[in-house]
Amino acid sequence: MKHFIKKGIPLRSTISLLVITAILLTMLTSITSAVQVNRTSLTDNYLNKNESYAKKLASNTDELLITMQNNLKAIASISAREDKMDAQMLDDLFLENTQYFNSIVIADNDRVVKARSPRKIGVSPGDRLTSEQSKMAVEQKKPFISEPYRATTGRLIILVSVPIVDRNGEYKGFVGGSIYLEEKNVLSTMLKEHFFGDGSYVYVVEKNGNLIFHPDKNWIGKNVMANEVVRKVVSGQSGSQRVKNTQGKDFLAGFAYEPRSSWGIVSQTPYQVIDKPLSHLVARMLLVSLPFLLLILLLGWWIANRIVKPLHTLAQFSDAATQKLVPAEHIPDIQSYYYEVRLLSQSVKIALQSMNQDLTHLRNEVKIDELTGLANRRAFDDVMATWIENNVPFALIMIDIDHFKLVNDSFGHMVGDEVLRYLSRLMSLISSEDDLCFRYGGEEFGILVKHCGLGRAKDLADRLREQLSITKSPTGHSITISAGISAFPVHGRSAQQLIMKADEALYQSKENGRNRTTVSKLGG
Ligand code: GH3
Ligand code: MG
Ligand code: MG
Repeated sequence: MKHFIKKGIPLRSTISLLVITAILLTMLTSITSAVQVNRTSLTDNYLNKNESYAKKLASNTDELLITMQNNLKAIASISAREDKMDAQMLDDLFLENTQYFNSIVIADNDRVVKARSPRKIGVSPGDRLTSEQSKMAVEQKKPFISEPYRATTGRLIILVSVPIVDRNGEYKGFVGGSIYLEEKNVLSTMLKEHFFGDGSYVYVVEKNGNLIFHPDKNWIGKNVMANEVVRKVVSGQSGSQRVKNTQGKDFLAGFAYEPRSSWGIVSQTPYQVIDKPLSHLVARMLLVSLPFLLLILLLGWWIANRIVKPLHTLAQFSDAATQKLVPAEHIPDIQSYYYEVRLLSQSVKIALQSMNQDLTHLRNEVKIDELTGLANRRAFDDVMATWIENNVPFALIMIDIDHFKLVNDSFGHMVGDEVLRYLSRLMSLISSEDDLCFRYGGEEFGILVKHCGLGRAKDLADRLREQLSITKSPTGHSITISAGISAFPVHGRSAQQLIMKADEALYQSKENGRNRTTVSKLGG
């Protein structure tokens, strides 16, 4: 009988899966933490770099402004001495300052232009400067850096001015140098040089949050106070932080405040720049760990195999053993390092061995015919085989009850069975201890007579017939039998031959009228 067991998950797959999962999780953890650590250090790196760069630019700007104001002061003192500044003279002075200013204007305390260079800037001597910022320059009467404003000429400019004071200390107006924010100017020249090629850039805001320098000209003049970093830097702070700009882009920004102009300088790098080294890192980690990974997988598979193989053999074998008896010597020796597996295999082995013993025992026992208590056909076969093997001479008497069908028909099968037992008892009575009386099957019996020739065997059969004829069977009448005799070794050396000869002789007895004994012919 085959047991159908629902197919479960094989142990080998489970262990392999466990190993793979463990390795992948370990890898994931180490890669994640490496990425985390590197991300932090890269971030810090960019923040520090941008902060120190912004600070450096702030101090450069400060020096630049000092130089610019000093140059204007020089022009102012010349202008104070020469009551009327010659146009050619200012052109010469401007030429020396083109790297700092886009234009220079000299105005009196009524803001009326006295001279300007270059000459085609849109204002001429005698024109009055109307902007708020020029007014403030006059009112303050001291070095002044304006907010960005639209000049009369329509340009977006910053005015750097110094007062003109004459020998008597009287205020005479100012010298103003303009920076054209939307054109090439001193700031753009200084800041544009510094590009990293990784998307980093610098921008400058004035104190109200308006951009006065940006690599993208379109942004100049726009207000970016919404940016957290801009708010911090124009309030006088310096530092660094990760920030989203007004466009929502993520940056690592460093910022520095420049006190002379109240400008804020911001240097920033797109946050995504650090993704590249990080993905490189992950790729490199994977590449480096790949051979180890394969090695560990192989090792894991091997270990899984070591654990599972004996169990598998055991399971397969146990399954087979439930379906047919396995001889003890066929029980496999299962080798394993694992205690549980050893224990299990030991138990299965012991169980199978004892099952085997029991069955062998059982088999050996079933050699008795249940109805008569005589030896059965199997016992007869065994004994005859042993005697032939050991060359023990013997005679075989085969017996068949005459007209037994009639007994059954007339008295019923119960009485028929009684008759069979009755005959068995008589057979046992007349045979000796060394002989084997057996029931061949049905109402056919036999006696194996040890160390016996044909004559003595015939005597024995006839004595049995004699005995039957003088005794009442359970039917109340006597019964008769027919017998046939062969002998080892004279009639053959195999059990089959001997049985055939005895059968033929028995048939002869029936043919010749029953109730008689026939000895098989020799040499036929
Ligand atoms: P023959 O003289 O030719 O042997 O005649 P027979 O009636 O004995 O013929 P056969 O050998 O063909 O019949 C055997 C009968 O024995 C048939 C069967 O009903 C009966 N028989 C076989 N085994 C048993 C048994 O265990 N008990 C009973 N009661 N009858 C059996
Ligand atoms: Mg028969
Ligand atoms: Mg018969």
